[in-house]
Amino acid sequence: MRNIPLHWQIAIAILLAVLAGVLGGPSANIGGLSFIAVYTFLGTIFLNALKMLIVPLVVSSIISGMAGVGGDKLEKLGGKTLLFYASSSLIAILIGLAVVNVIAPGSGDNQALAASISTSDPELTDTLAKVEGRGMSDVVQVFVRMVPTNVVAAAADGQMLGLIFFSLLFGFFLARSKSEHASTLMHFWQGVMDIMTAITMWVMKFAPLGVFGLVAKTVAITGFAAFKPMLLFFFTALLALMIHAFVALPLLLRYVGGVSPKKHYAAMTPALLTAFSTASSSATLPLTLKSIQEESGVSKQVSGFVLPLGATVNMDGTALYECVAAMFIAQVYGLELGFVQQFTIVMIALLTSIGVAGIPAASLVAISVILGAIGLPLEGIGLLLVTDRVLDMLRTAVNVFSDSCAAVIIARSEGETTKIAA
Ligand code: ASP
Repeated sequence: MRNIPLHWQIAIAILLAVLAGVLGGPSANIGGLSFIAVYTFLGTIFLNALKMLIVPLVVSSIISGMAGVGGDKLEKLGGKTLLFYASSSLIAILIGLAVVNVIAPGSGDNQALAASISTSDPELTDTLAKVEGRGMSDVVQVFVRMVPTNVVAAAADGQMLGLIFFSLLFGFFLARSKSEHASTLMHFWQGVMDIMTAITMWVMKFAPLGVFGLVAKTVAITGFAAFKPMLLFFFTALLALMIHAFVALPLLLRYVGGVSPKKHYAAMTPALLTAFSTASSSATLPLTLKSIQEESGVSKQVSGFVLPLGATVNMDGTALYECVAAMFIAQVYGLELGFVQQFTIVMIALLTSIGVAGIPAASLVAISVILGAIGLPLEGIGLLLVTDRVLDMLRTAVNVFSDSCAAVIIARSEGETTKIAA
């Protein structure tokens, strides 16, 4: 295995995991030890190790990235990053809206589908309990949460927006500081970042095992049979995600960034496969940073600033999915949505995708906000649960890819040559 490149090791692990999941099923065991318990063990240790790196990595990479860029260039870099994030998410949502309107996966005779939403399903009851009472005020809460009262508590609770805001401020003032100790601090944070990168590379040696556990568990539990009634919706979301990842973003890479999309895909493959397997942009961040710096050749300053921010606020796949899912539920309930309502969906999808955490299934909460805003029953979310995990894996890969495209395009606009120039 040692001589096989990491992305192939991960790809092989995914294939083996699908096989193991399909052949074993949910109740397979050896002498009472269930396979799922073994998969969970492998997957959880790997995920924990990645999550363990997130807080120090986000803080050190944002601070050292900003301090390295220096005072006067920072505003320009920040402006470009936000502009790219807002525009690419908007493009993603519009692609989703167009595809879901053309295919209309929820229209037609959907009595059976609508009736299949069983409100006594324990998984649905659980999800509903989490999303009940969500509304537009949650969109405002996203901005309130950005300013944490206690930065240590924010770090402990995984409140990434608060942590990012604090790190941005710290980096901003460090870059402008005239204090004689400023350079010590810069060295300190750069040192933390270097060690975190080294630990990431070590953790990634275990990625094939961890990925095997995560994917085998998902396949064993979800199976494929339950997918059937939802196939059209699944393919609609998949098609829209693919158009964004294989048409829209590569066009931006080629014509705005002047780099080769093919080379960039190759560079990012380990990160994309990890995003797919973990369904978490945050957990993938250590690897996204490593791939973009070492393989795509983006500087630590630009990637250290753009990527940690993107892992939390830039979610193209999620924004697109929110829109497709909300439109689908409306179609199943037989509701014709006019321009104003579709526009509302687009805007809420854009805003909520900023606040959605980079963890599995996070967008269900955002979708409930949209459903509430256009007056659809929350139970509609029940329909999404069947396909959610697999679509979550796919949209997370798109989220991570979009962050990486932002880093490359912004690095090019700052005059960097990168290793993937067209
Ligand atoms: N799992 C996604 C991510 O981490 C968020 C979501 O769409 O649920 O990027």
